[in-house]
Amino acid sequence: MSKEFTTAIVWFRRDLRLSDNPALTAAVKRSETILPVFIWSPNEHGSWAPGGASKWWLHHSLSGLGKAFAEKDCELLILEGPSEKTILELVKKTSADFVVWNRLYEPAAVKRDEKIKKSLKESGIGVESFNGSLLLEPWENMNQSGKPYKVFTPFWKSLVQELKPQKPLRAPGGITQSDKPNIKTRKLSDLSLLPKLDWDEGFYEYWTPGEEGGAKAVRRFKGDCAKEYSDTRNRPDLQGTSRLSPHLHFGEISPRQIWHKLFGEQKPKPSSKSGVETFLREIGWREFAHHLLFHFPETVSEPLRQEFEEFPWNKKKDFLRAWQKGQTGYPIVDAGMRELWHTGWMHNRVRMIVASFLVKHLLQPWQDGARWFWDTLVDADLANNSLGWQWTAGCGADAAPYFRVFNPILQGEKFDPNGDYVRKWCPELEKLDNSYLHKPWEAPKEALSDAGVELGKTYPEPLVDHQRARRTALEAYDEIKDKKAA
Ligand SMILES: Cc1cc2nc3c(=O)[nH]c(=O)nc-3n(C[C@H](O)[C@H](O)[C@H](O)COP(=O)(O)OP(=O)(O)OC[C@H]3O[C@@H](n4cnc5c(N)ncnc54)[C@H](O)[C@@H]3O)c2cc1C
Repeated sequence: MSKEFTTAIVWFRRDLRLSDNPALTAAVKRSETILPVFIWSPNEHGSWAPGGASKWWLHHSLSGLGKAFAEKDCELLILEGPSEKTILELVKKTSADFVVWNRLYEPAAVKRDEKIKKSLKESGIGVESFNGSLLLEPWENMNQSGKPYKVFTPFWKSLVQELKPQKPLRAPGGITQSDKPNIKTRKLSDLSLLPKLDWDEGFYEYWTPGEEGGAKAVRRFKGDCAKEYSDTRNRPDLQGTSRLSPHLHFGEISPRQIWHKLFGEQKPKPSSKSGVETFLREIGWREFAHHLLFHFPETVSEPLRQEFEEFPWNKKKDFLRAWQKGQTGYPIVDAGMRELWHTGWMHNRVRMIVASFLVKHLLQPWQDGARWFWDTLVDADLANNSLGWQWTAGCGADAAPYFRVFNPILQGEKFDPNGDYVRKWCPELEKLDNSYLHKPWEAPKEALSDAGVELGKTYPEPLVDHQRARRTALEAYDEIKDKKAA
């Protein structure tokens, strides 16, 4: 039976997988031949071009996708240049009559993709985009007044109600590639995605980017880990979470595949506290973050709650630098920042602690923290990162109230009770007794010297005093509250 199209260009972006890839499946089904393409165009993301750690991941993920296509006797073309011009040129050179991709939701990408769709349509080329990365599109789940949700629980309840869990799509077989066009292609190494200095050494120990790596991470998580998730998810000293975030960000696995692996075609009860259901709620937070990003695109750099525009931040480069380097003198904060630098990832509980410390104890703008995360996280994601920072700073949707200032000592004692996490990332405190590990400045001189710790020399003195910093933060908050009331 003849097919609807002759040649389909499949434009890969952050859907770097063959299975459950609706754009790829549609192209193979509806076109005689396909041409899979990745276009490197970092300048099209406004001020959010991929950061250093993301580029590392992208390099390895593209390499994996290239190999997966090669096993199907197909080549993933790598091109560089402005997306619109590159696609139109490719269409011309290949006489492609169909272009497909899976949708992205970042403001710059939405704008660009709309423009490209229009240009293709005007040239009489078939063009279609698909949902390859969310359970429901941001516009499919609106509140009863037809407006976007700003509170998570009703958003999630309604999403679960609306959703019809479906079987993920299999990777298509029988792919026929169209003739390779006479166009300048790139080798992966030409894109220079890997860092010049070797700060990525630690990444190799922790991560296996690519579709197979994502599938392996789900298999690891599926058994006991998922069952115990409600109890262990807040413990940075244990491997209690899935570590799926970079795989999800790059689309090496879809939320539908994860759902199906853990829950089949059932629906969770939104209020259930079981491990798997608690985990699916976190996938729900990812959906919520994308919903917010799509409907409130300005929140990548501006607070959702406008009164926070007036917040009296106390910009200090040396505070920001000490925080970035894991040299604040608060062990749980320093451990988190060093884990981030070494592995490109940080546990969620610790992300909340370090973010709260930066914006409340050090009074540095949340945007500066978000930028640092953007450059150093392998899972840096505009939707999740903006939500995470606005949530912690108290200025976002359904956010933690600003006056709830995390106590980094109590947080450390509660969530790293044996000190294993701090000892791993702050080895200079390794021998310090547990009772002082999260507050070394309170240790008697003898305990410090027995542990070989010299505050100010082997480990920093605390950058600020917790109680005083807390009071100052609350006074700063009162200033904007008073302005709002006036
Ligand atoms: C300040 C701050 C910044 C953050 N920046 C990012 C970011 O850039 N990219 C990112 O993917 N996540 C971010 N998060 C959310 C969260 O910390 C990570 O998704 C999580 O730590 C990833 O580890 P995991 O895959 O083991 O999570 P799991 O606990 O196994 O959760 C499974 C998946 O659910 C999603 N998820 C979990 N928690 C959240 C959350 N709070 N918000 C949105 N989605 C969530 C992620 O996709 C995650 O992979 C941030 C959180 C904070 C507080």
